Amino acid sequence: MLAIGIMEINKYSFGTGDRFGHQGVAQLQAIMKTGELGIDLVPVWNKSHREHTIIGTTPGSVREEAGNAVKKLGWDKPWFVDADHINKNNVDAFIEPSDFFTIDIADFIGKKPDTSEVSDFIKRNRKYTGTLNIPGIEEKFHLSGRDLERIAGKFLFACREAAGIYNYIADRKGAGNFVTEVSMDEVDAPQNPVELFFILSALAGYGVPVQTIAPKFTGRFNKGVDYEGDVGTFSREFEQDLLAIEYAIHEFGLPRNLKLSVHSGSDKFAIYPVMGSLIKKYDKGIHIKTAGTTWLEEVTGLALAGGDGLMLAKEIYRKALEKQEDLCAPYASVIGIDPARLPPAEEVNNWDGGTFAAVLRHDREEPRYNPDFRQLIHVGYKIAAEMGEKYTSLLEKYSGIIGQQVFENIYDRHIRRLFGV
Ligand SMILES: [Zn+2]
Repeated sequence: MLAIGIMEINKYSFGTGDRFGHQGVAQLQAIMKTGELGIDLVPVWNKSHREHTIIGTTPGSVREEAGNAVKKLGWDKPWFVDADHINKNNVDAFIEPSDFFTIDIADFIGKKPDTSEVSDFIKRNRKYTGTLNIPGIEEKFHLSGRDLERIAGKFLFACREAAGIYNYIADRKGAGNFVTEVSMDEVDAPQNPVELFFILSALAGYGVPVQTIAPKFTGRFNKGVDYEGDVGTFSREFEQDLLAIEYAIHEFGLPRNLKLSVHSGSDKFAIYPVMGSLIKKYDKGIHIKTAGTTWLEEVTGLALAGGDGLMLAKEIYRKALEKQEDLCAPYASVIGIDPARLPPAEEVNNWDGGTFAAVLRHDREEPRYNPDFRQLIHVGYKIAAEMGEKYTSLLEKYSGIIGQQVFENIYDRHIRRLFGV
């Protein structure tokens, strides 16, 4: 890559995950179709260490898949490969093939920071105590020195950790040759807009040129299903976050294009119009991260294909049902399955492809849609990974119908809802 200034992520970007690496073309087709509407959207292929470990793939395979899709379709705009949720222990394998790094600091929130760094932080931010006035936000925030101390105690160590990893990557890859995201979404308590403002202050203080930031938002972002929570509360928080970020850019000299990144962003249809209209209102960018939703489309496509495809889809469900506990464990904080609502395997065995697809597909108008069934399949990708070629050969055999599901899911259900087109 030529070093021509700092690599910048575009205003609108869409993170597409692809567990088995077969849907890059269909995903890129959805992005390209968006371009036909005059919306400049760029793709970011993301895959976390957790996914690589469960499936048995390497970070290099993501770049290869993305590169092949780009070449095949003649995509001449930017595209990125995201080392998703990395930390010090697993970043090495991602350095060469990735140009977007999601530095995950969730595990370091609440760890005790260095006392002298706390005083530096407080000194730099003391001017915001009293009434904190974030331009555009009507609500006035009252902030005492103690509040500032509390925020430092909660987040400063984690921000320093982000800087350590950022510098480690920059030393190896060259600063400016990658996009930096900081994530803290996989925690219990959401960060409020004031905390977000000071997290950005701390990141800037440590020299992290963050371009996308993924806070934990209010409400539940369960994998593969809709947003659960009060949409009005989310809307207010999202709007205040946008304004807090704008103010932080101005106050701390962070990258002009700094924007929110929404993790577990697939299927959160209830908040898509809200996010879409707020970014329009403030002329801000957004990054939406999705991953497992594409794997679910593979299973849907297999079911619709019938024959051996449908049989395999049923086998995946039956095995997922048996291994429910193991499969759910790594995702405990981001799924909510009611076992009583899971149909027994014998019942599913009698379904035709159309029924299987209707129960699985996230179509809010479809009375047969079952979010519990969907979530179990979502975490069940390990079953397919263990099947190896038996699974991937059917992905190839039925690539037409599967690709169509992947495309429609990203373009019709996600992108069009977000941009209101
Ligand atoms: Zn995340």
